[in-house]
Formats: sequence, C-alpha cells, structure tokens
Amino acid sequence: MKLNNYINGSWQEGGGADYTAVVNPANGETLCEVKLSGKSDVDEAVKAAKRAQKEWVLVPAPKRADYLYEIGRLMKERKEHLAQVLTKEMGKVIEEGRGEVQEGIDMAFYMAGEGRRLFGETVPSELQDKFAMSVRAPIGVVGLITPWNFPVAIATWKSFPAIVAGNTFIWKPATETPMMAYEMAKIFEEVGLPPGVANVVFGSGGEVGTAMIEHPDIRVISFTGSTETGRRVAELGGRHLKKVSLEMGGKNAVIVMDDADLDLAVEGILWSAFGTAGQRCTACSRVIVHRDVKKELEQRLLEQMKSLTIGDGLDESVKVGPVINAAALEKIHGYVEIGQQEGAKLLAGGRVLEDEGQKCGYYYEPTLFTDVKWDSRIAQEEIFGPVISLIEVGSLDEAIEVNNSVTYGLSSSIFTRDVNQAFRAQRDLDTGIVYVNAGTTGAEIHLPFGGTKGTGNGHRDSGVAALDVFTEWKSIYVDYSGKLQRAQIDTE
Ligand code: NAP
Repeated sequence: MKLNNYINGSWQEGGGADYTAVVNPANGETLCEVKLSGKSDVDEAVKAAKRAQKEWVLVPAPKRADYLYEIGRLMKERKEHLAQVLTKEMGKVIEEGRGEVQEGIDMAFYMAGEGRRLFGETVPSELQDKFAMSVRAPIGVVGLITPWNFPVAIATWKSFPAIVAGNTFIWKPATETPMMAYEMAKIFEEVGLPPGVANVVFGSGGEVGTAMIEHPDIRVISFTGSTETGRRVAELGGRHLKKVSLEMGGKNAVIVMDDADLDLAVEGILWSAFGTAGQRCTACSRVIVHRDVKKELEQRLLEQMKSLTIGDGLDESVKVGPVINAAALEKIHGYVEIGQQEGAKLLAGGRVLEDEGQKCGYYYEPTLFTDVKWDSRIAQEEIFGPVISLIEVGSLDEAIEVNNSVTYGLSSSIFTRDVNQAFRAQRDLDTGIVYVNAGTTGAEIHLPFGGTKGTGNGHRDSGVAALDVFTEWKSIYVDYSGKLQRAQIDTE
C-alpha cells in the first residue's frame, strides 16, 4: 500500500522524489510506503486551506462542532482498528494503543462542546450607553507538526481546537507514523469536512516542516517533538514572526518519601517508566527516593520488573513493546554505557534483546540504575527509553531541588501519606504537571498539557488552554449613545 497526501478533500501523490517504508518496530515488517512530499505540496495545501478558511469561519461554531461529534463517533466505531494500526506502526502495547485512541475520542467530544462556549468576556464600559466585549477570533491557516510517540492523540489535541475555533490546518505527521494520519484523513473525508479544512502532508521535517514554517500564509505553528528540533522551529518561526507553540522533551521524576505506600509507588513507577517502552514525553526516568526506604524500594522494583513481559504489543499479555527504531536502540544503549562510565550501579537490564522472536524488532530490556548522581548525564538528559535512574535524597527539600535541577519541566510526582508534604511539593515542583500518589503519566484531556523551562514556551495543548494557541482576542466596543463619546480622555 502507498499512502498519499490528503489535500483539498482529495488524495494526491506527493511531489517529492522518494518513497520511504513504514516499518513495524515489533518485527521489522514493512507495513506500507509513503511518498515524501516537498515544498510544492505544502504550497498546494496552504492554498486550499486559505480558500476554505474564508467559508469555514462563517459556519457557526456549534455547526463546526457537529463535525467533531461525527469524527468522535467514527473514531469510537473504529477504535479497535485504529488501536491495532497504532500498535503496529509505533509499537506501544495494544491496551495503551486503545487508551491513546480513546484520548482522541474524548478530545473530539470535549472540543465539540467548546463549539457552544468559546467564551469571551462582556465587561461594563466606563461610558454610558456603550457596550464592551471580547471574542476569540480564529487566526487563519495553522500548521501542525507532530511526533511518532503519540501519533493520534497529539494531533487531536491540536487539530480539534483549531477547527472548532474556525481555523483550517495543514498537518505534518512524523515520518515514522503516517498511517495514523492517513486513518484520520479518511475520517475527515467521511464526515464530509469541507475540502481544504483539514489537510495532511507527508514528508520530512527538514522539507515539509521547514516549508510550513516559512510559508507566509501559515500564521501559527503548533509543534510537539524534541527540544532540539523545537529550538530550530522557534528560531525559524521567530524570523517569520510566527506564533509558535512548542511542546518538547522531558526528564520526569517520581519522588518517593519515607512515609510512602511503597507497593503503590512501585506500581506507579513501573507504569510510568516502562509504559510505551519509556518513550512518553512524561515517562518517569528518575526516581528520587528517601534514603530510609531506598533499599526496600530497589528490592521491590527488581522483584516486579521480573514479571514484565516484553514483545510484540499486539500480544495482550505483553507489558513492554519495542522502541521505535534502530537509532533509538543505539541511543538508549549509549546512555546505559554512559551511566556505567559515570559510576552508577546497574541493578537490572542494560541489554539490547536479541532472543528468538525479538531479533527482527527493536527491543531494549527494562533497565534500573541506582546510586545515580543527580547531576550526571543519565539523570539530566532525556533518554527516551525504558531506563530508570534512582537518586538518593535525605529530605523533601532536597528531593524538590533534585527534581528541579534539570533543564526540562514537564511532569513530576510524589508518593507520600503526609498531606503537608504533598501540598508543599505541588507548589514547589517546577513542572507543568504534578501528580500526588500516582506516576508521572496519565494526563486528562480537559486540563492543559505542557511544561516549563526546556519543555515548552508558555503555550499548552489540550484543555481550554489549547484555544489560546489557535485564537486571537478581539475587543469590540458598541456605542449606542448616538454621539461621539471619547474614552481615555481625562474628564476630571
Ligand atoms: P522530533 O525528532 O523532534 O520530531 C518531531 C516532529 O518534528 C516530526 O514530525 C519531525 O519530522 C519534525 N521535524 C524534524 N525536524 C524538523 C525541522 N527542522 N523543522 C520542522 N519540523 C521538523 O521528535 P520525535 O523523535 O518525533 O518525538 C520524540 C520527542 O518528542 C521527545 O523529545 C518527547 O519528549 C517529545 N514529546 C513531547 C511531548 C509534549 O507534549 N511535551 C509529547 C510527545 C513527545 P520527521 O519525522 O520527518 O523527522
């Protein structure tokens, strides 16, 4: 099968020269091919999106929302199929695949509700017989650039608020995961979204991504990916005076205090460290543990890690799937070697798995380091794989300091039974998301999603906050006095 772009409501072969194979990371099988597009395809898509936006903005928001209800309904109907495609394409285990598709469904219904809100403000005027209000105005054509690790959920966090607010969009999915974008484009077509409202262009970040950022008619770029790429996107976007929303990398920590429920903490750590094979932006890659419970926690983690089954995520009994590709395996193993050179103690894992049934895929053994120094590279840099670093501390203050020592600020968590410690932690942990007595993953779509410092640039996906990315405030004054009333004139 060959995947084509979805532009102006029709399927069009990309104009670039190269095809690339989409490979199942669980077994190395080629799933399909996708033609990489070029600048001319972006130009074509933007032309269609710009034309469509003129009409789309006139469709009342509750009617725009009706399309989202239909999209949500179709996604629900196809949930199992979408989850299977997702798992084959990027490797996360099938129950997580279902969970991710469900996030998209939830986002569709939630954002559809916004079609009847899109709240602005009405305020009293300082003058008699004058009315003052603000409304959210759409921005125009917006560009969405998404990563492979959440190939559908992240796209829904961006595209659904964009269209309900009256924008049209061009979506460039990651080269590794075009199939989910193809499935979503089919849904956009089936629900009858007017041609040009939703456009999908396949291709590399360097070609298609750059063309989108440089295009004068794309006014917003909403990007999710690594901090390194995000910085390049922001630099180029800045030169073109784009509104750029960035959701980037993380180095998330679970804090385990001496009064924690350790069984609960172990469960939370395993789920957030090894879910999606550690390739979540919110994955727990540091465990900051109070010295009085460190030994006990190590033992319990080691015990529970033995029961993690590793393999093809389509097998319902598997708990940890493959990582995305050979380059990821190499990067993860490189960090494990760095950890050993830095003097951290390897308690478990640390191997590329090449047993029968695994050697055609990309599997890394869940790995646990202890005695990790808070400022070492494995404790500071995003590894994006199934590797945990245990760091010992002696107090809550120290735990918070260690948590905050990294350049990222996405998610953090604390396990404690002391309500005072929990509240101090949620105040002082400088991440965009904080969990108490849960791991670092599990965000809900109706709250803002994003992070501080090197993780973001002040914008948020998801929740009502996502509307801030895709709208501009317009303030409107209506004077019904019948005479010229001058505001901001000192009448004293
Ligand atoms: P990535 O390499 O930065 O790629 C992300 C997207 O950007 C892809 O579509 C990529 O296209 C595109 N891209 C690459 N170079 C570009 C350029 N010069 N201009 C414009 N676009 C460009 O990230 P990834 O490996 O896919 O994803 C993993 C990263 O995403 C991790 O760091 C993770 O923490 C982060 N992430 C963050 C969040 C969050 O909400 N904070 C959520 C999920 C993931 P190609 O595929 O063609 O390279």
